[in-house]
Amino acid sequence: MTVEELAPPVSAPDRAAPGALAHRAALSQLRDATGILGLDEGMYRLLATPRRSLTVSVPLRRENGRVEVYSGYRVQHNLTRGPGKGGVRFHPDSDIDEVTALAMWMTWKCALLGLPYGGAKGGIAIDPRGLTLSEKERLTRRYTQEILPFIGPDKDIPAPDVNTDESTMAWMMDTYSVNAGYSVHGATTGKPLTVGGSNGRAGATSRGVVLAALDAMRHSHLDPTGRTIAVQGFGKVGAGAARFFADEGCRVVAVSDISGGCYRAAGLDIPELEAWVAGGESLASYPNADAITNRELLGLDVDVLVPAAMDGVLTADNAGDVRARMIVEGANGPTSPEADAILQSNGVTVVPDILANAGGVVVSYLEWVQNLQAFSWTSAEVDRKLCVFMQNASRSVWALAGEKSLTLRRAAHVIGVGQVAEAHEARGLFP
Ligand code: NAD
Repeated sequence: MTVEELAPPVSAPDRAAPGALAHRAALSQLRDATGILGLDEGMYRLLATPRRSLTVSVPLRRENGRVEVYSGYRVQHNLTRGPGKGGVRFHPDSDIDEVTALAMWMTWKCALLGLPYGGAKGGIAIDPRGLTLSEKERLTRRYTQEILPFIGPDKDIPAPDVNTDESTMAWMMDTYSVNAGYSVHGATTGKPLTVGGSNGRAGATSRGVVLAALDAMRHSHLDPTGRTIAVQGFGKVGAGAARFFADEGCRVVAVSDISGGCYRAAGLDIPELEAWVAGGESLASYPNADAITNRELLGLDVDVLVPAAMDGVLTADNAGDVRARMIVEGANGPTSPEADAILQSNGVTVVPDILANAGGVVVSYLEWVQNLQAFSWTSAEVDRKLCVFMQNASRSVWALAGEKSLTLRRAAHVIGVGQVAEAHEARGLFP
């Protein structure tokens, strides 16, 4: 096969925009937090610059024998508080800017939650929807092989994210283990239970989103019973959040996925929708509700809006349409800085991503701790620990926001960034 026959990487220049916007948003949040903390320009630069950024090519032989080559990334944004931690996504818009922004948010999230980790993230610029299972496995294993020198239980521990799941993590762990010559369960988190996964990991991010929302309702003196909820994204985070909201007595009136969404004022039957999607159907074709677009969903008059799909969905263009009382960010980076300002001036409470969706990395941490000890906790024990981590972080964010009259996002960033800066100061600069 000649070089000309190889398909070009998917990350063409016209796809670079979402990542660049995410990176710009992350840097502007960091600039704001370092200003509030009174940190100098040198510390800002240290915190703004990724420690290690790796771009790899990931060749994939398709079932028809043709070879395609995709761009893969792993960014370790900061390793000062511990090994890198963060997901791996397969998405056509994935690029080095987006992965850098997501890694940076992981750094602040881990610090805010008090986890002994730095922040990392990975991605492959590919739309995996057309791949067979064995193509996905080959892609995952080759990507893992390419980033192998940089990952491991003491270095950087990948987890699932958009379009990746527990099988992806099992293949990554297996590839790492085959290279090591023995089983290294702590190499990834979000694995199946049978190979060192943790009880409670699958629903952990969603559970954390709902805990953060319930806390926000308490602060706003809202009884959760009957509160209306709209969830954008019906994957690992969104579907679980919809189910946990319904379990709390809330009325989930709208959900959506990439195909579009569905609305029912009396409340949707979430288990039925989950079964519908599990059968390979899209939400847009669900027959027992009215069809709505993703844009309409973001503008619904509900108590809580949960963006749980992609970054950059709330912008200056549509933030003014939001009629929800509060936004609880299941996704990473769904709100641009311009949208944030509009939402604030319209009195919308935004529970930021680095707090709201931290349940996933908390239980990933618990999974890693169990792996390192070759031990396992029950679902109840994991859930109890998750609640403690979430409550502590939520309490400190709400307290600082009240004390200094900051938005919850600014308060969360001040705490996270402050913790990392403190760790830099304590360790000193080498040499
Ligand atoms: P997923 O792949 O399981 O699900 C993504 C969902 O979003 C799917 O329903 C998909 O159809 C939908 N979607 C994709 N593009 C869309 C669009 N343009 N408009 C509307 N819907 C769209 O991914 P996930 O793991 O649920 O992750 C969702 C978000 O949550 C991401 O921002 C991710 O970084 C964040 N997050 C995930 C975890 C985790 O543990 N999985 C933890 C923290 C944060």
